[in-house]
Amino acid sequence: MGKSWSHLETKLIHAGEPEKPIEGAVSMPVFQSSTFVYTGAGSYHDLKYIRLNNTPNHVLLHRKLAALENAEAALVTASGMAAISVVFLALLSPGDHFLAQDCLYGGTHGLLTKELAGLGISFDFFDGNISESWKTLLRPETRMIYVETMTNPLLGVADLKAVADFAKAHGIISVIDNTFASPVNFRPSEWGFDLSLHSCTKYLNGHSDIVAGAVIGRAELIEKITHTLNHLGGSLDPHACFLLDRGLKTLAVRMRYQNESALKIARFLEAHPKIEMVNYPGLASHPAHERARDLFDGFSGMLSFELAGDVETAERFLEGIQIPFVAPSLGGVESLITRPATTSHAGMTPEERDALGISETLIRFSVGLEATDDLIADFEQALKG
Ligand code: PLP
Repeated sequence: MGKSWSHLETKLIHAGEPEKPIEGAVSMPVFQSSTFVYTGAGSYHDLKYIRLNNTPNHVLLHRKLAALENAEAALVTASGMAAISVVFLALLSPGDHFLAQDCLYGGTHGLLTKELAGLGISFDFFDGNISESWKTLLRPETRMIYVETMTNPLLGVADLKAVADFAKAHGIISVIDNTFASPVNFRPSEWGFDLSLHSCTKYLNGHSDIVAGAVIGRAELIEKITHTLNHLGGSLDPHACFLLDRGLKTLAVRMRYQNESALKIARFLEAHPKIEMVNYPGLASHPAHERARDLFDGFSGMLSFELAGDVETAERFLEGIQIPFVAPSLGGVESLITRPATTSHAGMTPEERDALGISETLIRFSVGLEATDDLIADFEQALKG
């Protein structure tokens, strides 16, 4: 397991895998055993037990995920939300304050607004579209700044380098949800972020068949977070670990295809007379396009758009679409389309969504691996309805 490779494609296949195949198996076997024979572990956290996320299938993923983002360490969790919540619970205490980008995945927004305040942890939202808007909100008790690489569902791109630099300058922890970009398009530790989070449910696994999460970053923080997670119990089952590792092996080819396909579809939609607006950082019309070009190796397979018309028009369009499944979630091999106001961001009030620009008619599209021309033809026919 000591080998290292410079290219992400090779790391996806080989990083963290057993150096000598177990019983000659080229695919890592699943160690579906809750407990392992005691060998004199020095501490509670070193006992080998599935809840402690340290069986061979977990260890493989920890090494692979750290290698993919050129980070020191990683930890897998039971879901993306388990990864996000354990980071807050491990690193913040009552009386602490943190800064969070205002446009976030709805589940994260709910965790902040409905759970953390009750624990005596306070925060301020800042608008990531306004440069350095976070600066004036810093307090003596501020401990963390939290952003998304590309915001869900509006695909905004904050000045991520400035966020990481600001955190360093003030000795606070920088955390980024890198789910939308994946390590193929953005590696947060290379830009100075302390921690990167993933819903591995999405691109990293890529097949819409498991729920999983990961925290990747500085070893000292990962150790602390691991100990908290060991108490909370948000472990990933070994079979899900196996599926995640299998999914990861094709991440680069999937993601690059999805990057390319999404750009073509975004251009098609932007030119269509029935479409009012397209949010995609790869379009020259995106307000942060130049910044996204500097930061990212690709712009991901996620886009959102507004149709001319009302909610009924949007619903008619979704009824008319034939290839994508109308479903929440994203990052799978199959295209998924949804109206965030009814799914990913349904936990927010209409007023909260309105303030962020998440309209009732906004449609979010996760581009799958179907032929781009088939998807465009499908959009074309649905837009005629
Ligand atoms: N982060 C982002 C950007 C997401 O879109 C999601 C889910 O949609 C999550 C985190 C939560 O992940 P999970 O559903 O795996 O808990």
